[in-house]
Amino acid sequence: MFGVPAPVPVQRVAFGVPAPVAVQSLTFGHSVRGRALRALVLGDPSAPRRAVVIGCIHGNECAGEAIVARLQHARPRPGTALWLIPSVNPDGHLLGTRQNARGVDLNRNFPFRWRRTGVRGNFDWPGPAPLSEPESRSLHRLLARVRPTLTIYYHQQAALVDESGGNPGIEGAYARAVGLPFRCLPRYPGSATTWENHVTRGGTAFVVELPAGPVSPAKAHRHAVAVLAAAAGTTTRAARSPCPNPRAGL
Ligand SMILES: [Zn+2]
Repeated sequence: MFGVPAPVPVQRVAFGVPAPVAVQSLTFGHSVRGRALRALVLGDPSAPRRAVVIGCIHGNECAGEAIVARLQHARPRPGTALWLIPSVNPDGHLLGTRQNARGVDLNRNFPFRWRRTGVRGNFDWPGPAPLSEPESRSLHRLLARVRPTLTIYYHQQAALVDESGGNPGIEGAYARAVGLPFRCLPRYPGSATTWENHVTRGGTAFVVELPAGPVSPAKAHRHAVAVLAAAAGTTTRAARSPCPNPRAGL
């Protein structure tokens, strides 16, 4: 779909050829319709900095998969490992729906401040209970095991980086690096990002809202470079949160 991207030239070493990057392919669960949920792990999984990159959670907002594909050829910086997840909603992507195959908005199905609202058929139906869906359960289990220091969730199509409740220095630096505005979306109940920022100590999870349409190879490259910098923790320059009351949430 996206062709074969060229390697991302992210690091040069002073002498000789860099050691090869350890790569593992991992199936961490299955969707409602039995499709595998896969991650590609680059680098040492016990590295002190562990970054998870999720290309798609809302099935009709999947342009971030091109960034994940680009990162498969990256070299994480020393002390950093990457979990690259093209999609946690493969059924929704095939159906062209935001929700999974049972009509649940996976990004309202996480257990922090989950709320029973609406009915099946609503665009953001949170499901009958927190973690009622195999996709959200599988992701929850993976994140609990990996304990990421950074997680990035790609969405569309607001064209911004959201101050999602993690370290605004990291979030703001990412926004500057990719040329998107740094803004403040609501902290939605049951969102994966808000849950993660609540439970992980010292970690940062945030949402990147890509513009509508596909991501060009040049843009995918720019995002991939920004992910590697954020993953390595080299972009922690202090930044002011754009949120009026940033820690309050919903
Ligand atoms: Zn979304």
